[in-house]
Amino acid sequence: MGKWLVLLIVIWFIFWVLKSLRRLKAKTHHNSTDGIEDMVQCHYCEIHIPKKEAIVADNHFYCCSEHYQLHSQSDT
Ligand SMILES: [Zn+2]
Repeated sequence: MGKWLVLLIVIWFIFWVLKSLRRLKAKTHHNSTDGIEDMVQCHYCEIHIPKKEAIVADNHFYCCSEHYQLHSQSDT
């Protein structure tokens, strides 16, 4: 009977470790994406957009290709 109790405790402990590990992983994953996601400002309209969606041209970020064109036109 004592053997089963030990086995139960061991199983419970493994579950507990896995659960807390998963929670820790989810927490760190959440932290890396929440708020710290690279946001850039459109050089033309100054709207904030995620860096991965931005258009990069002439060392500046643009929210769309239209704004890049508009800015390059007004520049020259
Ligand atoms: Zn823009």
